[in-house]
Amino acid sequence: MAKIVLTADEAIFTDYHGADLFGFGLCLPCRLVPKLVQYHLLTPRAPTKHLRARFAPYALCRVEASLIAAGFNKHDVVIVPPHMIGKAIDTDTEIVAVHVLDPKGLAPVSWTLKALAGGGMSCTELEFRKLMHVVKSLKKKYKFKVVVGGPGNWQLRGYEDRYGIDVLFDGEAEVTFPIIVKKLLDGEEVPRYVKGEPMPLDSIPLITTPSRNGQVEITRGCPRRCHFCSPTMWRFRSIPLDVIAKEIEFNLKNGIKTIGLATEDILLYGAHGLELNSNAVKKLFKVVMNLARKWGVSSKIGVSHVSCASALVLKDAVKYISDIQNLTDDEPLFTQIGLESGSPKLVAKYFRGKTYPWKPEDWPNIVVEASKLLNDLYWYPCFTYIVGFPDATPDDYIATTELIDRLKSEGFIGWSFPLLLIPMGGTLIEKEASYLYLSRLPQEAIDCMVAGCELSLDNSRMLINKVIKTRNPMLSRILSRLATLALNAMEIWISDVKRDLSVIDSLYSKVNIRSTPELIKAAMPNCLAIVKKHT
Ligand code: SF4
Repeated sequence: MAKIVLTADEAIFTDYHGADLFGFGLCLPCRLVPKLVQYHLLTPRAPTKHLRARFAPYALCRVEASLIAAGFNKHDVVIVPPHMIGKAIDTDTEIVAVHVLDPKGLAPVSWTLKALAGGGMSCTELEFRKLMHVVKSLKKKYKFKVVVGGPGNWQLRGYEDRYGIDVLFDGEAEVTFPIIVKKLLDGEEVPRYVKGEPMPLDSIPLITTPSRNGQVEITRGCPRRCHFCSPTMWRFRSIPLDVIAKEIEFNLKNGIKTIGLATEDILLYGAHGLELNSNAVKKLFKVVMNLARKWGVSSKIGVSHVSCASALVLKDAVKYISDIQNLTDDEPLFTQIGLESGSPKLVAKYFRGKTYPWKPEDWPNIVVEASKLLNDLYWYPCFTYIVGFPDATPDDYIATTELIDRLKSEGFIGWSFPLLLIPMGGTLIEKEASYLYLSRLPQEAIDCMVAGCELSLDNSRMLINKVIKTRNPMLSRILSRLATLALNAMEIWISDVKRDLSVIDSLYSKVNIRSTPELIKAAMPNCLAIVKKHT
């Protein structure tokens, strides 16, 4: 058996049937996600061959690659999905490393959904606890060391003993993680908290396990310096094109049928600081599309994020990406964008860099103009915006609501979702922010949250069949039906919350549909209560 086992919990270690956005469903309190839906529809188990995962979350692939590049034998390192770790760990195991995103349900999406739904443990936290329960009991038997790292590591500070964690690893893995592993194997002392050094661009270890849904990293970090953001704390780098091409080709050769580009902003590719580079972006897409054609990739290239100012600066590159992929209204590109706030005062204080080369007071116009440009070229974005900046006033919330209303009146196609500000570890705003509860927010903030949800509700009904595309058409139909039910529930929730916020505590916090008997037992009276309120 392998000496070093790499894993993650079931909320992360899955391909979501090819639809990455299902991952957001797991940020809901688990009482609102029936087990049947979670385990059978949203998060199928990752397949294995001789205990080795056939695909893995990209970060784990990179960690494995860094160990092999540092001289470890492939036989000594194995990426294992969580349902197989009982078989993969034995007396040979010396280190178990766990990748985490949202282990305590404190990330912005989970925290916000918790607040909006009336509390409860998120599926992300539940799955992390389940995994660590197994890891801890195996540790008692086999005495290996446990290292935990990944973007959610900050949530576990102070909980190391509870979960049996020996080393909490923060930062980039490629350089430092292999050093820590060697020290642990040699029985040397390793501090409880380790910070990884930045990865140099001239020695990037190439993945040797295919990555989930063909995701590959194209940039790391972001130069815009928003105060609430953690990736911006990492030095900005564009991954060399030959590395990207090799990793994509490796995935496609090994049975992955899609390509996804992971970035904080696709249009930052090849940029020098905030000076964008249209040619580099176009060259990237030319190379990627050539690979897609060579290997018969039929789906559009996934793009995780873009930003409004970049889109307006690189209009030609946005058009190039649309044209080369033949984007249409039936096959658009879905991506995420941070809108954050419609108040120039808050823009200037917390995310001035996002507006570059324009000024904070231009931000509302930048958002509207970029939306029009993107929509015209069949990019349908999901805007997220922040509620709870430390010094936000009712006027600031009104400014954001007005911006959302402007988007609506311009016919914006896409979504807008509010996120409560959280004191995310490692961000510039960490010390100023606190966990917020809806009851402590002014009515204008609640109105602002509702406005975004209403826009999303209307557009979701129109876009649902375009968004829910899994590899299996039958499954896509089932999920579209379930999503329609969820949208109906959201519509009722919005109208209730608009009338009286306390309904979240008095009614919605009691809904529990986790197990089938609970689904039947709890849904009936609650559904009746909700129906009664509306008849
Ligand atoms: S633009 Fe996005 S990725 Fe860049 S610093 Fe701001 S929030 Fe972070």
